[in-house]
Amino acid sequence: MSAVYDRVALIGLGLIAGSMGLAMRQHGLAGEIVGTARSAETRDVAVGLGLCDRVTETAAEAVKDADLVVLAVPVGAMEDVAREIGPYLKPGATVTDVGSVKKHVIDAVSPYLPEGVDFVAGHPLAGTEHSGPHAGFATLFVNRWCLLIPTEGARPEAVARLRALWEGMGAKVDEMDPEHHDLVLAVTSHAPHLIAYTMVGVADDLRRVTDTEVINYSAAGFRDFTRIAASDPTMWRDVFLTNKDATLEILGRFTEELFALQRAIRTGDGQQLFDYFTRTRAIRRGIIEAGQDTEAPDFGRGTTRE
Ligand code: NAP
Repeated sequence: MSAVYDRVALIGLGLIAGSMGLAMRQHGLAGEIVGTARSAETRDVAVGLGLCDRVTETAAEAVKDADLVVLAVPVGAMEDVAREIGPYLKPGATVTDVGSVKKHVIDAVSPYLPEGVDFVAGHPLAGTEHSGPHAGFATLFVNRWCLLIPTEGARPEAVARLRALWEGMGAKVDEMDPEHHDLVLAVTSHAPHLIAYTMVGVADDLRRVTDTEVINYSAAGFRDFTRIAASDPTMWRDVFLTNKDATLEILGRFTEELFALQRAIRTGDGQQLFDYFTRTRAIRRGIIEAGQDTEAPDFGRGTTRE
């Protein structure tokens, strides 16, 4: 495949940027990949693992002459990075991000981008509970969706080019507006994560009563929760602080449904429980049919989250 961009700058070199670096190199999608991260340790590891061709100490240096700049830091750090790189962006460059929340990132980053730079926000719906430069792998985005959110004034050709990059890495691409993105992700990702964190927290409290039983006899459902609840604390703190309204809306609905099921259990309404579980089973079948997961009860699976 021929290069989509001559020079790509990766700001942040963790799971997502690292996977992008490996995928771009594997498919020859970038002439040169320059990377930067907060710590010297991550920068050294990234070069050692071949996530990028070279690293710079600062984000300002990394974006010099870059045709595409990818912001791949926690959502709460996007504004500081944008402030730093704004004056050094090449005219005609495209800036994108991979943050899990879109409206907040667009509002935080846009004011620092000069005219003549296209900002096309993005979110690959792919991830694992692992983080850092060692966590990346080239096939992370294969057959996963990447949502693009072009901001006002972004040129269609800049959007098309970014789409070509994601497709080159194996992703399926769709466009969405930021509010809709944040609501959809609150349902499919953010609220489920909070519920998993809560369930594991409850079990941890119980552990003090039951000693090691929760761990030794942990059943499939609980193990799946623990995998999700092992996700990066910084990333998820930022997600909840910046997608507040949509997450609270979904959690409100969740609580109502939970109360309804609680009442069905208390009153012995087996029909209600049966009907409810039949409906949810069909959703699972839909996900498998759409190729977004497999039937395998694979708790070590690598590419399940966003
Ligand atoms: P990660 O593995 O933890 O990597 C984060 C990178 O950002 C590291 O290189 C880190 O540098 C750097 N960084 C952290 N704080 C910084 C700061 N204040 N200033 C500058 N650099 C900073 O994270 P990730 O999982 O790749 O996530 C990156 C972004 O992708 C997040 O916005 C997240 O919401 C989004 N996302 C994540 C997933 C997922 O499942 N993990 C999926 C889709 C999208 P050091 O290593 O030197 O600290």
